Amino acid sequence: GARVPICTSCHISIRGPFIAALDKTWCPDHFVCANPACAVPLINCGFVEEADQLYCENDFEKYLAPKCAKCSRAIVGEVVNALRNTYHMHCFVCVACGQPIGSGSFHNEDGKIYCIKDWGKLFQTKCYGCQFPIEPGDKWVEALSQNWHSECFNCSTCQMNLEGQPFCAKNGKPYCKKHGATRNF
Ligand SMILES: [Zn+2]
Ligand SMILES: [Zn+2]
Ligand SMILES: [Zn+2]
Ligand SMILES: [Zn+2]
Ligand SMILES: [Zn+2]
Ligand SMILES: [Zn+2]
Repeated sequence: GARVPICTSCHISIRGPFIAALDKTWCPDHFVCANPACAVPLINCGFVEEADQLYCENDFEKYLAPKCAKCSRAIVGEVVNALRNTYHMHCFVCVACGQPIGSGSFHNEDGKIYCIKDWGKLFQTKCYGCQFPIEPGDKWVEALSQNWHSECFNCSTCQMNLEGQPFCAKNGKPYCKKHGATRNF
């Protein structure tokens, strides 16, 4: 026996033409936007299902779609949830390189979003000796207007470690007392 379709909206068996969508069936008159002020037939336009109701795309965008925290426009499609807000994929981007962050990691500097790579380049302190970043747990010294890993702050001639030691500076480089005092003209 052929199953008689039941209208999802009025729950009456449909004898005649019906509309099938989303594994459900409707009488043609009931396949309309769930907003009573609109009730546009959905057969001719795009629609979105929200909480078991069907809405025309217009109403969905106007009333139901999450709003993007950056451009304030409705988000239809992929949503990025971050910083207790919702964003379009193309609106949640690194301010330095403009690449979408998506579901990747990021850093928030004063409300500005940076991808991990650019954040490291821009905000992580680099050691003047080895050019590698100084990580939060690292021991480091500030000297000659630069930052150094403790183990990288060495005499430029003999490599003796100068942390906590007296040192001389020549051309922005540290030297132990012995080599800093030597003049090699
Ligand atoms: Zn019906
Ligand atoms: Zn509508
Ligand atoms: Zn947006
Ligand atoms: Zn970036
Ligand atoms: Zn270093
Ligand atoms: Zn030395």
